[in-house]
Formats: sequence, C-alpha cells, structure tokens
Amino acid sequence: MLSERLREIIPETKFINSRRQPQNLKRILSKAKFTSVTNTEHTVQTCGDTRCGICSKDNYNYLETGTTKTFKNGLSFRVNADMNCKSKNLIYCITCPSCNENYIGQTGNALCERVRVHKQQIRHPNLRQIPMSGHLDECANGLFKIFPMYKNYRTEQNYRKTLEQKFIQQFQPKLNAL
Ligand SMILES: [Zn+2]
Ligand SMILES: [Zn+2]
Repeated sequence: MLSERLREIIPETKFINSRRQPQNLKRILSKAKFTSVTNTEHTVQTCGDTRCGICSKDNYNYLETGTTKTFKNGLSFRVNADMNCKSKNLIYCITCPSCNENYIGQTGNALCERVRVHKQQIRHPNLRQIPMSGHLDECANGLFKIFPMYKNYRTEQNYRKTLEQKFIQQFQPKLNAL
C-alpha cells in the first residue's frame, strides 16, 4: 500500500540505499539513530488519567490512538514508537474533525504541552502564529485531533525541523499550506 516515495521516509535499513532517494533525505536518514526501529508494531495510547486534558473522554479527547495515521489524501504512516500524551521530541499530525484536512508539526516538549499552546492560539486570535489556528476555530469550533506519528531520537532542534519539512513534503497536508 505504501508507495516507494513513502517508504523512503520510513527508516528501515533496506530502504536507505534506494537509488531513488533524494540526496538530502538520504543524508538525513544515514545520520539518524533509529534505535527502536524493528518489526514490532508500535501504538499510540491514552495515558489513562481521567483528568487528562488531552486523552480523557470526560473532556474532549484530542488524542488520536492506534498504530497508523491515514491522511485525508489516502497516504498513511505507521508509528515508530509507543507514544502517549506525555511523549516528547516528535512529529505530530493534527486533523480537523470537521473537514478532515491535516497539519504536520513538530515539538521538543511533551505533546500535551504542545496541545495546550495550540488551544491557546485557537482561542486567542492575537496569539496566533499559523493560519491553521483560525481554520480550526471557524471550521471545527476550536476542536482538533492530534496524533504523535514519529518519535525523534535526536536532540538537535534543527534536525527535528528538517524532519518536519520532510514529512510535510511527503504528505502534503493542506492545513500547512493555508
Ligand atoms: Zn493523557
Ligand atoms: Zn476543517
């Protein structure tokens, strides 16, 4: 189901030497330490805390769970680590629950902390930095779903931002291009 181009971003050794890989992506992947990549299936789960502002069904549950994220355009990506709302240093996907369009972002902080900032920016137009905040406010009454899709094991901020750009190029989420 995954296209060749999609396979390139999935850090499995057997794809790293592909001749079809663009040079810059090849360089990034060959430097990376994808220590947890195995054939094991990983899952995104809720933290289990009923007071959690992200995962609890008692609130609105912002966290999407499961093993795979399928984008509105039909492309999909399998998570590379077990993650939850407390996970840090990752690439995430936000989905508008009204129109199902997607957005890809990155954070070095815990996912729940990043969600808190997104909520703030949606609520307060003067704090907004990206057009997606206004979209979610108007299209979905401020609500959204978030899925941590890729755990980054390196700590340099620039590296995570480069990865984010690669994911955006690969998946072409519409809410990044507003
Ligand atoms: Zn939680
Ligand atoms: Zn929408």
